[in-house]
Amino acid sequence: MKMTETQFDLIKKQLKRLTSRDCFYGRKLEGINVDDIQSQEDFEKLPFTWKGDLREAYPLGLQAVPDEEIVRIHSSSGTTGTPVIIPYTKQDVDDWAEMFARCYAMAGITRTDRIHITPGYGLWTAGIGFQLGCERLGAMAIPMGPGNTDKQLRMMVDMQSTVLCATSSYALLLAEEIAKRGIRDQIKLTKGVIGSERWGEKMRKRIADELGVQLFDIYGLTEVYGPGIGISCEHECGMHMWDDFVYFEVVDPKTGEPKPDGEVGELVITTLRKQGAPLIRYRTHDLTRVIPGECPCGSKYPRIDTILGRTDDMVKVKGVNIFPSQIEEMLTLVDGASSEYQFMIDHLYGKDICTLFVEVENGTDKSVMEQKIGTAFKAKIGITVIVKPVAIGELPRSEKKSTRVFDNRY
Ligand code: ZN
Repeated sequence: MKMTETQFDLIKKQLKRLTSRDCFYGRKLEGINVDDIQSQEDFEKLPFTWKGDLREAYPLGLQAVPDEEIVRIHSSSGTTGTPVIIPYTKQDVDDWAEMFARCYAMAGITRTDRIHITPGYGLWTAGIGFQLGCERLGAMAIPMGPGNTDKQLRMMVDMQSTVLCATSSYALLLAEEIAKRGIRDQIKLTKGVIGSERWGEKMRKRIADELGVQLFDIYGLTEVYGPGIGISCEHECGMHMWDDFVYFEVVDPKTGEPKPDGEVGELVITTLRKQGAPLIRYRTHDLTRVIPGECPCGSKYPRIDTILGRTDDMVKVKGVNIFPSQIEEMLTLVDGASSEYQFMIDHLYGKDICTLFVEVENGTDKSVMEQKIGTAFKAKIGITVIVKPVAIGELPRSEKKSTRVFDNRY
């Protein structure tokens, strides 16, 4: 991705400000003379910022402006250890609202829409972000928050909600419940704005079909405002990113070197205007790629692909990077294969050996499936695997995110 002149100027101004005071980046970038940064290449030599750095700054070590300028904090979920606290100035909240309203507009949502918001409100950035953007746009917010399906559906019918904001799993649950209760004809939804967790094509199609809506993927993370820094358009070919607020790079997750446009790597974000807690070269751990060329919608905002997975999920075998979404995608193309699988990598006799266990539909011929899946894997992902078809229900199920890739080499 080529950095624009405006982005470069904003970054320089921000670096100057941060290095001239005692703050997180003042210390992190100590010894770096900002005047020596004269090009994108120079900028790309600056050290990355990691989630661990942010955790160490707990609680308010990231704050880059005086207390009187901070109007709010948010916090990342912190399921593993110390949470990250992000302070916001009034300007930050305004900018976020602006970006989020732009997301709704990109999805064709207008002031006459009624937006049913199911993500949670509170410390994390989800519900409140959806609400902020809705009010900025001028549409009607229905601030439900999560849970209580009966109430959700009753309000959806009575309020004639036209837009559903949800995670993909909650959208699916509501869709199934609507089908079960036979109330589809009372539902007036036309659009769904779905948070950026990764979801397969099969799930997407089910939600869209059952609710009769067009779906939009919205992107964001608490460390960088929250949801709303990018969204897919009606052409469903990646997400447009608001590059007047964030500068993004895609780098090799192992080496940190820039990836050419079109190639998959880790998304790295630098905020351009953030005051409360600016971030320089923040490693998101999200895997995606820059989509080259112009979007048929005509928008000039650059695009990244829908999130393909997390760097933590990626494995390298025989020089090839493999991530779960590739395996899922490959399986959707094979008739008779289910979406449930386990991928094992072992090191035996000096070689990496890959085994793919896949649940296949009852009545399919296992040796035929073995051959079909093996061929599809080789064609799509580029390496040879041993395929072991198993019956539906044989692989373990998990309430939480299930582990599907087991690297037994080390
Ligand atoms: Zn577009």
